[in-house]
Amino acid sequence: MYLSIGQLFEQSVNKFPSKEAIVDSERGRRYTYSQWNELVNQSVQAFRMSGVKKGDVVSVFLFNSIEFATIFLACAKMGAIFNPINFRLKWKEVAHIVCDATPALFIYDELLAAEVSQLQKADPKLRCWMSSTTSRADSLQTYIQNAPTTALPIEVNEDEAYSLMYTSGTTGKPKGVLHRHRDMIEQSLICMQALQLRPHDRGLTAAPMFHCAELHCAFLPRIHCGATSIIMSQFQPKQVLSIMEKECISVMFAAPAMWNMLMQEDVTQYRLDALRLGLYGGAPMAPILIRKLMDTMGIALVQAYGMTEMGPAISFLYEEEQERKVGSAGIACPNHEIRIVKPVYNETSATMQELPPFEKGEIIVRGTSMMKGYLGKKQATAQALRSGWYHTGDIGYKDEDGYLYVSDRIDDMIISGGENIFPREVEDVLFEHEDVLDVAVFGEPDEVWGERVVAVIVRKKENVSVEELDCFCQESAQLANYKRPRRYIFSQELPRNASGKIQKYVLRESVREIKTEQP
Ligand code: ATP
Ligand code: MG
Repeated sequence: MYLSIGQLFEQSVNKFPSKEAIVDSERGRRYTYSQWNELVNQSVQAFRMSGVKKGDVVSVFLFNSIEFATIFLACAKMGAIFNPINFRLKWKEVAHIVCDATPALFIYDELLAAEVSQLQKADPKLRCWMSSTTSRADSLQTYIQNAPTTALPIEVNEDEAYSLMYTSGTTGKPKGVLHRHRDMIEQSLICMQALQLRPHDRGLTAAPMFHCAELHCAFLPRIHCGATSIIMSQFQPKQVLSIMEKECISVMFAAPAMWNMLMQEDVTQYRLDALRLGLYGGAPMAPILIRKLMDTMGIALVQAYGMTEMGPAISFLYEEEQERKVGSAGIACPNHEIRIVKPVYNETSATMQELPPFEKGEIIVRGTSMMKGYLGKKQATAQALRSGWYHTGDIGYKDEDGYLYVSDRIDDMIISGGENIFPREVEDVLFEHEDVLDVAVFGEPDEVWGERVVAVIVRKKENVSVEELDCFCQESAQLANYKRPRRYIFSQELPRNASGKIQKYVLRESVREIKTEQP
């Protein structure tokens, strides 16, 4: 039997009433499980009083905060569908989500008021509450404070909708993914086990909570096991390190780009003895960076691979395998399966044929935390979920032990002179150059070869030249000649979305206007 997420939270409240549950170190706010529960109960009452019903969508356009976490649990308790929105989006992008999700209530941070006022002009009927640190009669905080603390009975079952989360929009417009309570309880249990979480753990939430990687793989499992969460509004490397020291952080999830930022700091200045485990994932991480991370931070690492549609995690590479299987995304987690397939066509249909070890094909997955579907997108859902398998759109292979290696996204693969080139392979090599801080590789049209390889580089030192980088690629034992970039662009930064992923479609569009250098 499963419970709903609200009941699961109440179990922790009953087991650990006076244990520290949630902390906002920057503002000095600390709540025990029972104090936090009171706040959650008041939020449920406030939502009810304002007319929000079970099954309604509640959107949050908030930075990481105790408010975010409280609304998350209040929705779970009352059976409202929790819809977190990326706080970096501009109003037209938010409008796309609001139009799709039709929330009964839209809660936003006062710092995002400028975007929201545009949104309200376009959609005057949208009901909004502002989260504000100053006392205002119409703020989220006032509504909550004025509501009774009495707990209402939880009438939500495991099969009911729990969240509407939008994909990162790495390849285009974000899609709204619907999950049920049971999917996320499964996901939370899997992550608890993978991270070997204990009630005495203190986890830092600095990665964005609106993304399921932080919310479901790191934050929810801590609630599940009665651990403590320290919340930072946004990821700032220096602050992350000092809060890690001050709050004796033992576990943290961060996307590869965030770990890369931490490695640029002098970590030896901080006492991080309590830190026992780092979780990374959500985007590829070059093997050289994984090695550097292990050396710099000296902590155990676990990698997660997955996607919003799966809750997200479907595989883990555990700490003891990091050296032996570097570059792998691990093996499928319990209750999940991963296959590598290619379509075989006959006259009327296509069937999926499973491929042997080391052969590259599409990664398809299934398991207990799979989405119900995309909101309002029957065709896209049918396209993604075929015969009970979610088709990831990622290419990869398994080794002889069944370990998964994610090569790239199908759409990002470059075909040059009839040869397949995976941008990630080229990126991994360029990352090994000491003056490369960040890199993105993609294909652009070429009259002779169909496509050619382009690399956009963020340099550590301004003087590293195209010739030097080209020489480095030529000398690499890992890169065939035809995979070498034919065009280099130096840039100050790469367009990354809030999940830390490079938006290659943005790069492809802007690349024509950027100054270019050829080897
Ligand atoms: P959209 O679907 O809107 O284009 P998205 O696919 O980036 O955006 P998410 O669900 O956040 O949205 O990300 C899932 C994708 O992230 C995976 O399909 C995969 O390409 C990539 N990914 C996740 N984890 C890893 C990992 N450990 N290694 C390599 N790639 C990863
Ligand atoms: Mg996707």
